[in-house]
Amino acid sequence: MLDKTLTQTELQNNAEFIARHIGPDAADQQHMLKALGSDSLNAFIDSVVPDSIRMQSALELGQSMTETQALEELRQLANKNQVLKSFIGQGYYNTKTPFVIQRNILENPAWYTAYTPYQPEISQGRLEALLNFQTMVSDLTGMDIANASMLDEGTAAAEAMTLCQRMSKSKSMTFFVDQDCLPQTIDIIQTRAEPLDIDVVIGNPQTDLAEQDVFGVLLQYPGASGEVRDFREVIDTAHNKKALVIMAADILSLMLLKSPGDLGADVAIGNTQRFGVPFGFGGPHAAYMATSEKYKRSLPGRLVGSSIDAQGKAALRLALQTREQHIRREKATSNICTAQVLLAVIASMYAVYHGPDGLRRIAERAHRLTTLLATGLQEGGAELVNSSWFDTLTVKTGDKTSAIHSAAQAAGINLRVIDDAHVGVSLDETTSVEDIKLLWVIFLGTTPETDTELAISAIPSALIRESEALTHPVFNRYHSETDMLRYIRKLSDKDIALDRSMIPLGSCTMKLNATAEMLPVTWPEFNSIHPFAPQEQTRGYREMIEQLESMLCAVTGYDAVSLQPNAGSQGEYAGLLAIRAYHKSRGEEHRNICLIPSSAHGTNPASAQMCGMKVVVVGCDENGNVDLNDLREKAELHSDNLSAIMVTYPSTHGVFEEGIGELAEIIHGHGGQVYVDGANLNAMVGLCQPGKFGGDVSHLNLHKTFCIPHGGGGPGVGPTAVGEHLAPFLPGHGELENKTSVVSAAPWGSASILPITWMYIRMMGAEGLRNATEVAMLNANYIAKRLGDAYPVLYTGANGRVAHECILDLRPIKESSGVTVDDVAKRLIDYGFHAPTMSFPVAGTLMVEPTESEPLVEMDRFCDAMLAIREEIRQVEAGEFPADSNPLVNAPHTAEVVTADEWTQSYPRSLAAYPLAYLRDAKYWSPVGRLDNVYGDKNLMCSCLPLSEYAED
Ligand SMILES: *Cc1c(COP(=O)(O)O)cnc(C)c1O
Repeated sequence: MLDKTLTQTELQNNAEFIARHIGPDAADQQHMLKALGSDSLNAFIDSVVPDSIRMQSALELGQSMTETQALEELRQLANKNQVLKSFIGQGYYNTKTPFVIQRNILENPAWYTAYTPYQPEISQGRLEALLNFQTMVSDLTGMDIANASMLDEGTAAAEAMTLCQRMSKSKSMTFFVDQDCLPQTIDIIQTRAEPLDIDVVIGNPQTDLAEQDVFGVLLQYPGASGEVRDFREVIDTAHNKKALVIMAADILSLMLLKSPGDLGADVAIGNTQRFGVPFGFGGPHAAYMATSEKYKRSLPGRLVGSSIDAQGKAALRLALQTREQHIRREKATSNICTAQVLLAVIASMYAVYHGPDGLRRIAERAHRLTTLLATGLQEGGAELVNSSWFDTLTVKTGDKTSAIHSAAQAAGINLRVIDDAHVGVSLDETTSVEDIKLLWVIFLGTTPETDTELAISAIPSALIRESEALTHPVFNRYHSETDMLRYIRKLSDKDIALDRSMIPLGSCTMKLNATAEMLPVTWPEFNSIHPFAPQEQTRGYREMIEQLESMLCAVTGYDAVSLQPNAGSQGEYAGLLAIRAYHKSRGEEHRNICLIPSSAHGTNPASAQMCGMKVVVVGCDENGNVDLNDLREKAELHSDNLSAIMVTYPSTHGVFEEGIGELAEIIHGHGGQVYVDGANLNAMVGLCQPGKFGGDVSHLNLHKTFCIPHGGGGPGVGPTAVGEHLAPFLPGHGELENKTSVVSAAPWGSASILPITWMYIRMMGAEGLRNATEVAMLNANYIAKRLGDAYPVLYTGANGRVAHECILDLRPIKESSGVTVDDVAKRLIDYGFHAPTMSFPVAGTLMVEPTESEPLVEMDRFCDAMLAIREEIRQVEAGEFPADSNPLVNAPHTAEVVTADEWTQSYPRSLAAYPLAYLRDAKYWSPVGRLDNVYGDKNLMCSCLPLSEYAED
């Protein structure tokens, strides 16, 4: 006999995922509540979240589900998508993700759960993969320097436009765009140009450029039509006008075509999707940007460079960070923060896997099949628009156009819709001779007599590539699967990701990325769909997207959501554009002042600047709250021109500011809009809603709050959520109805990772999400409590509580011992941990956010490490360790250093390597010693090191 009857919930067992996602169990939660002097979780939450902003009812999201139930429901949606073979092209091509890469990178948490490599010592693996990416891009484009990825090709073109505007010696405010550019790129350029007062002229560069006075030119190579044009004269013409030239170049075509660098271009941009990254209905993919040495300081995004470590050994880290928004704010080169690291890693590994010979074969095959297709079409009487090509043809189809599309779809094929009289067809790595025969029948109705052996080149001879590419050993070494597997493993072994230990980053919410959430990403019904596939084939996607939009409305209390922005920075941009358009619609176009508290994340001022707004900084009071007096004064002063305020809530100082309602009232009173940066939504889901406590618009970061993994610095999704009055101004897309404000190349940005968030919300349900928020705050307060005596918690809210993160003040320690935040961060590596967020939002501090997913034992292990470090600091303070010979200043300790025959330090080797007992069971060894950043920026080197620098040689 059973001695207990099961409750309804236990019987259904559908809440089991909640307990998997939330680290601490009931007993652990009781333990923490006791430590915090609270009787219950409810009482604790009441002491944290101001009553005035609390939700009165539960989230309208339904019940939790098991992993299996949610996967089954999502499977039903996926089945409503139809996967046809795509010949659409237009910037997106079929590719074969090498299985060894799919399983060991794309589906491997050692890669996808890593954080952005700000801590270079524990990121050498992904930094090497990114350096390979940069080398690959600069080799193929023939440019000096390439960055570590852009968000997509369209935004890369727009960023290149502003680079040209900054760097060109021309005074013109006109930008010339090749009419044969990808349509989605042109739409993004127009969106980005408008608020910056840049005029965009679209035309044929070979005939129309001469008469224009411009600061920059964007050319597509090969063109969207497929034509391969020799741009040397155009580039000369542009340079004579002091204009700079950007070439948007297809990465695979560059294996056969003369590089943009060889043709004289100043900037090259493009997409690397076709290097092994699936369509994913538009993303995520890594775009690239490369330029010449002299513009390196104007390059947007992240840049990996080599430097040396404390032992003088070559090591990698992010270079020239002073360009970035974290430091330069509204003067930054760009607002890009999260980029596309995981996808850049995949693309670089695709090049490592195939090597130059393999890539040339792939390019040549696609090209020759295209020539075969073209020859057959012409022999069968079809007329082509382009007379040269790499892999794309534009066919004049006249009144047969719609019949051809129907015949294609009946045969399981999608072709590119251009207009009523033309059809586009693009071939790729996956095309076969059978496909060509099928395409002939579709276009001609019959099979021409063309000899399928015949396949000459149709690349103009003056444009045939002569320079070598990918000669570095890394691209020529790992071509057996065994070698490849071990190379991937060798790199991931160098890094700390969430699969090793807690990553306690403030503001970045490194929570569990559950396996069940990740599974659908590689379902063909989600990842093999072209972003511009016909609507009737993507019903499942659209339904899933609509559901997700309404889930996010339910969470935030807003009325409409756009999932197009593919990072938080892009969500900010889209949100500010909506505010701008709203003011304009009311005849108040002049409103251009954006108030931003001094504690704001760097993307806020950088995004405001991109919208043509003027940033006015508002101070904070001694409690870390927005100084309402200063705010009132500045709102008053700029009343006539006030556009918006951007506030982060709960604040970047990790507290719920009681004054948020009043703040919103002041801004609204002066006709401004309230932008609530939602990156800290992990402290609010199920408890309070920015759309209800005064916000007009927010962006959320699905790669923080909603379980999309960080991927080592991307991908991300940064939806923009707005109130009803701003809904008409959300991003549109040329592939949908309206084209106003297009912020991403694909209509739903990084669509293929949206199932991760859908799964999370579905499995957690209303109750689970709220519980996650509560435990996130419980965990943060527990850590603040355990560490507070050793490291003072800088800011707390009304009842001495923090929200979901806490700032530990290390400035007094610096005073008393000389030990810096850096020393503590690096020493944590010896203890096996990634450092918390350093010196943001306050210099000399560490910001810790445990999230709800960290179990109590792991948080205790982290606290034990932090307390042991405090004891080491005390020994420095007490003079027991000299300032230049202590475990902190020498951290991290490599195995090489600790096992060297000579040891002259004031402390024992065992303390260096095994300061706490748990390390004897599992020790992470930093592969390099502390990085020298200054050396790296002085001796900038951003592509693969010469072989002699590699230790194993
Ligand atoms: C992460 C973050 C952003 C930027 O998001 P990205 O996706 O990295 O562009 C903006 N604001 C805050 C407060 C953040 O924490």
